Amino acid sequence: MTTSPKRTIPLARPVMGQPEADAAQRVILSGWITQGPEVAAFEREFAAFTGATHAVAVSNCTTALHLALLAVGVEPGDAVITVSHSFIATANSIRYCGAEPLFVDIDPATYNMDPAKLAAAITPRTKAILAVHQMGMPADMAAIVAVARSHGLPVVEDAACAIGSELHWNGQWEKIGKVHGNIACFSFHPRKVMSTGDGGMLTTNEPEYDRLFRLWRQHAMSVNDQVRHSANQVIFEEYPMLGYNYRMTDIQAAVGREQLKRMPEIIAVRRRLAARYAELLASIPGLGLPHEPDYAHSNWQSYAVRLPTGCDQRAVMQAMLDRGVATRRGIMCAHREVPYQRAEGYDLPASEQAQDHAIVLPLFPQMTDEELEYVSAMLHEACATASVVG
Ligand SMILES: *Cc1c(COP(=O)(O)O)cnc(C)c1O
Repeated sequence: MTTSPKRTIPLARPVMGQPEADAAQRVILSGWITQGPEVAAFEREFAAFTGATHAVAVSNCTTALHLALLAVGVEPGDAVITVSHSFIATANSIRYCGAEPLFVDIDPATYNMDPAKLAAAITPRTKAILAVHQMGMPADMAAIVAVARSHGLPVVEDAACAIGSELHWNGQWEKIGKVHGNIACFSFHPRKVMSTGDGGMLTTNEPEYDRLFRLWRQHAMSVNDQVRHSANQVIFEEYPMLGYNYRMTDIQAAVGREQLKRMPEIIAVRRRLAARYAELLASIPGLGLPHEPDYAHSNWQSYAVRLPTGCDQRAVMQAMLDRGVATRRGIMCAHREVPYQRAEGYDLPASEQAQDHAIVLPLFPQMTDEELEYVSAMLHEACATASVVG
């Protein structure tokens, strides 16, 4: 249909190199390849990085969210308040507990839960609040936690995208994961800012949650493999409750430790690239640039812009793809997908508007200034063309 592009700028690209390859090899040759010393070291280093008291590694962020909701007591028949405007894993984790998500709309400026809508959504069935730091932008935790506390509700943070993001809290900047609710959950999928292939982490300051996560991720086995392996007496394990296989491997953890060392630099570069986009895109008439509130420092896991009115999303994305620039449409809305549809519908205009009118632009640390300028120029052109047609 179209001529092949001269170049292709992907949406994202993981930063992986020899240190990660060496770390994986070291583990593979070590004789211990799952949930052992590397997982323990990764957890210590992750806790230190975020400022949390406890960090527990699991297989991915979806399983982390499941365990977090179980820990705060979500049971079948309960409701958990969250946003529809998120990757479907957020809503799915609630269903895994036999509970139902209760969706509140987002603040269009931040793409995050609108705290003003939260109090009205609370019912006697509400058991917890699941706040998302969408695209790495911290949600308004001060407002969300205030409402939650006044109703005696726990807050779980879906921090899948938010490693290294910061929140202004009690007069100082703190990393997401230092736990501003009760438990925070991170993802190490390759589309996030740091990756272990797949992987997840829970952080909390609550020793009891830490104990439960460690049991649950390994079928609630009373003695973990490492302890049994190194014991000089025969140990018989027990399974005092229902557990899961949500382990992380030592191969993943070793890679994660190397990724963590890169975080300060990667986040600094991402912030510089985002600032450059803001300069270059400011002159596109009607384009909505991302808003970073006073209380937030984003890691810019994704850089979303809202297209000018009358500018067709698909046309802009296709025009950019034809010029070799990959983009994605705005974050999905779970309530529009089959598992969450309901006869009476939903009233979530800001969420739907964001999905239908925002696009996510390429942003990754290896991106050159020239590539970023090219993407910006292509967006200028595509918006001009698509507006005329639309
Ligand atoms: C990616 C993502 C998840 C799921 O993370 P996995 O590690 O792939 O399970 C959950 N929530 C949000 C907001 C995400 O972006």
